Amino acid sequence: MQKVKILVRRFLSLLSWAVAPLAVGLGILHAFDDSSPPSIFFTVSIFLFFFGVLVGSLSHHPHALVWMGATATGAAIVLSEQALPTLWTPTQIFGREILYTASQLILALMLAFVLRSRIGSRSRQLAADGLIVSIGAWIISWVLLVQPSIAMSTSSELTIARGLTIACAMLVVFLLAILVFSDTSPTPATGMLGIAVGLILTNVILRALATSGEVFIQSQTIEAPFIMALGLSGAAFLHSSSSFITAPHAQRPTPPLMARLISTTAALIVPIIVVAVTDPNGMQDRIVRTISVAVLTIAAMSRIVQSVRANARTQDKLIRNALTDSLTGLPNRVLMLQHIEQAVQSQLNSIYQPTVLFIDVDRFKNINDSLGHSTGDNILQCVAERLRAAIPTNASVGRIAGDEFVVLDPTTQSPTQSVMLAEKILDAFRDPIATSDGDMFVTASIGVAYASKDVELSADNLMQHADTAMYRAKDSGRNCIALFDDSMLEKVTKRLEIETALYRALERNELRMVHQPIVDIDLGIVVGFEALMRWDRGDAGVVSPIDFIPIAEETGTIVPLGSWAINDALLQLRLWIDAEVVAPSTTMSVNVSPRQLHDPQFVSIVSEALTRSGVAPEQLWLEVTETIMITEPAQALSALKKLNALGVRIAIDDFGTGYSSLSVLQQFPVQCIKIDRAFVQDLATSEGSRSMVRTIIALAKSMNADIVAEGIEELAQLQILNSLQCHKAQGYFISRPIPVEEVPTTVLHIQNFEFWRQRTSG
Ligand code: C2E
Ligand code: MG
Ligand code: MG
Repeated sequence: MQKVKILVRRFLSLLSWAVAPLAVGLGILHAFDDSSPPSIFFTVSIFLFFFGVLVGSLSHHPHALVWMGATATGAAIVLSEQALPTLWTPTQIFGREILYTASQLILALMLAFVLRSRIGSRSRQLAADGLIVSIGAWIISWVLLVQPSIAMSTSSELTIARGLTIACAMLVVFLLAILVFSDTSPTPATGMLGIAVGLILTNVILRALATSGEVFIQSQTIEAPFIMALGLSGAAFLHSSSSFITAPHAQRPTPPLMARLISTTAALIVPIIVVAVTDPNGMQDRIVRTISVAVLTIAAMSRIVQSVRANARTQDKLIRNALTDSLTGLPNRVLMLQHIEQAVQSQLNSIYQPTVLFIDVDRFKNINDSLGHSTGDNILQCVAERLRAAIPTNASVGRIAGDEFVVLDPTTQSPTQSVMLAEKILDAFRDPIATSDGDMFVTASIGVAYASKDVELSADNLMQHADTAMYRAKDSGRNCIALFDDSMLEKVTKRLEIETALYRALERNELRMVHQPIVDIDLGIVVGFEALMRWDRGDAGVVSPIDFIPIAEETGTIVPLGSWAINDALLQLRLWIDAEVVAPSTTMSVNVSPRQLHDPQFVSIVSEALTRSGVAPEQLWLEVTETIMITEPAQALSALKKLNALGVRIAIDDFGTGYSSLSVLQQFPVQCIKIDRAFVQDLATSEGSRSMVRTIIALAKSMNADIVAEGIEELAQLQILNSLQCHKAQGYFISRPIPVEEVPTTVLHIQNFEFWRQRTSG
């Protein structure tokens, strides 16, 4: 059924393209037809009209008012042209004129309805332009058509009716002009209807010209445009796009601005020329001309005022958009910098030290990633609202990027006041934020900077200082405040320097591995090593991994550095085993960062390093920290499982210092737990530490994992660990991490029975 309907619609649309040229042809033929009425062409076009409207409406269902309006207009004109052509009593002539007037009125009403549906509220300026065009057309019609016919006519009612017809026709001109000027894209149906309306107007004007007596026009010529209009209307209704005549339509890519400008200008100039070159015909004519020109002038004036206002509004909007953030309506970075600049300039000779707070929402990326961007947007709006409410009246707040806000208080007088302001703002985050996913606790890190009297700072500098302090607040564990001081800048500069140098470190051979022995406490032998990276920057000294590993992780350099470390450590182990410095089963532990586990190449890098060195996979321990279980655990888990499948073993480093939950830990393939130095440190003095270590050991046993204690610095710690059933240890007490060349002697030394006896007996 649906298919048949579609086929019918397609067929009718095709038919409509055949009917349209036929309609034009009929009109032309009629114009040259000398036979007496009724004309066959007129009859065919009437048929086409009613056929089109009826069949088209049944198939495409245009709005009822549209097809009813079209039928009524068509019927009214057909009646007046066809049914009464031979009756020429004054009453009949008058009746015919009234029918004509009615047809124009209905047409105007229908067009108004179509316009309202298609353009809606966007039509004010269009209406003004349409008004100018229609008043212009009215003036021309008055001077050339209506006025002469009044002068000739004997019946005043008939004159009024003719005037009315012209007036209604001008209303149609007005509405048609709006439709043409509007920025909605035309469809075949609206296009054909538009042309049909234009033809009807031509018919009205030709008729008026003929009745004015100025020129002689054959009745066939007058009727020809109307015949075309009838057929075209029928064609329009046959086309399937007639369903959408009243639909609010897609905007045209290029609105017809030029056509609009030309027709409104013509509508202003031509009537004035016509009025100027023709002499008024008596008092009545003079009055109508004066009033019409006055109305035209007023319409043009109001259009100009409207344009200027719209322009100013657009400009205003553009400036506002350029300076405010669209999500929160707060000032953006550019405007905030202007405010700060003003505050800094005006504080120079005053008691004030303007404060700038840099506020960054903690872990906002996580919120966005896990709850979606619309919840993220809601949270930002809510944060903006709270900041607005929290700041004093003379302060301002802006959003300068994603989750970064800046507050400026130009009237603070001391660092204490600046910090108090920051604390007040941190307080604003205390209550949970209601989102569609439930209540959320959101915290922020705040950097505080103020313009001090001693140094002249630019707005940019001040904002940058607050930004630097904010990073310090983040480093200190988030949800806190940091006040800027100059040492922070040094740190930032140093960091930048390290970042750039780190990129080159590998190719410049500045990296090396040191090794810390891991011993079996009971046997007193070295069972493995932990490889630790060192960066030797020549004159600049040796950089600790604590300083450069986090930077390498952040910048991604850890990926090449890390694979170099694994290769180097395994090749070294091979050399020692071959040289019989250590037992063939000795293991090598290498630290691995989360970033490396996310590298899709990582597993193959490890397996190639094993092949190259000929070390058995079981002898490679990869040390990961608990953080991998918190950020994107699924990805890390899959890499670890693949490594495990190769035979490589996994150790959890610094165990007990992270935040991993036992349920997540259980899912990870773990063969060793390294007890963090923090728990070992106080073993001899604190019962708490002892029971903590006891618990970790029990946990490791239940997971069937090996245990290594890190950071043994005293004999007592070693003894207690041994008594708690922890059999492997590493620490300064046994050996510091040492360069490659010292390993053979150090191993010998540790394994020297005398040394071990002395060590274990104190
Ligand atoms: P980690 O893996 O926990 O390594 C143990 C750290 O504790 C080493 O610091 C080691 O020198 C130190 N240490 C060992 N015994 C003692 C002791 O008895 N007392 C004290 N106070 N410290 C001891 P290091 O070499 O500075 O390394 C620091 C961290 O840097 C490592 O902690 C590890 O997380 C990371 N790291 C080092 N090398 C690499 C590497 O090649 N790749 C990656 N991803 N991270 C590495
Ligand atoms: Mg380690
Ligand atoms: Mg460790």
